[in-house]
Amino acid sequence: MLSLPFDPLQRTKAVEELVMEGLSRKYYRFRPARYYGGIATADLVGCPFLCAYCWNYARNLHPELSRDRYYSPDEVAKRLLAIMKRERFNKVRLSGAEPILGEQSFEHLHKVLEGIYKANPVCDFILETNGLLIGYEPELVHRLSQFERLAVRVSLKGFDEGSFESISGSNGKYFNLPIKGLKNLIRSGINGWPAIMYETFGPEGIGKINKTLMEYGIRPEELEIEYLEPYPFVLENLKKRSISLRTQ
Ligand code: SF4
Repeated sequence: MLSLPFDPLQRTKAVEELVMEGLSRKYYRFRPARYYGGIATADLVGCPFLCAYCWNYARNLHPELSRDRYYSPDEVAKRLLAIMKRERFNKVRLSGAEPILGEQSFEHLHKVLEGIYKANPVCDFILETNGLLIGYEPELVHRLSQFERLAVRVSLKGFDEGSFESISGSNGKYFNLPIKGLKNLIRSGINGWPAIMYETFGPEGIGKINKTLMEYGIRPEELEIEYLEPYPFVLENLKKRSISLRTQ
């Protein structure tokens, strides 16, 4: 039984062991998606966080229970390239969980990127991450900088230690790591930007995170604001953690 708050660096190791087999990783879906004007999407299993609003909550709570299969980097790249070709998209992403859990999952991701760019050097790969590992291990960011058309969206879970802890389930002392990860990306010349969920920040939280971003040398106008999908289980999880939503 997972008790909150947990240490996300410990949890990421445990989760990586559950969702990786050699360089193959568990995925549960490959699909075309409407976001970013149309994008080929591979949905992963496994995340060190357990956000109250995660739409993939059950799988990320118990990745060991999912019956999804493991895919090699080559299989993932081929499936995504096939969706791009069929749908006439030029964008591709990984979603549903965290792509970077540690060294093994990073190697998997790196090989997926190599496979995609070998076949289609001009597509845009959007990496959606919670930023934890790229803040903890800057060397990973350096290795991503070889992919010129890679863009990285870092989803920030809170505007201070308390809000980070209640949303992500992780100990609040790790609040700064995703922001450091974003700074590492920008320093390495990678197109990276922060994203937040409006209803859990509100205007006051947005003001606070903008101030923190500026302290890290990140321009606040880069902040992407997304809005909550109010699935019943999401509202229930938010209620269990006593998180109130801002609507204005
Ligand atoms: S970081 Fe993303 S995938 Fe992970 S639990 Fe939070 S919302 Fe879900």
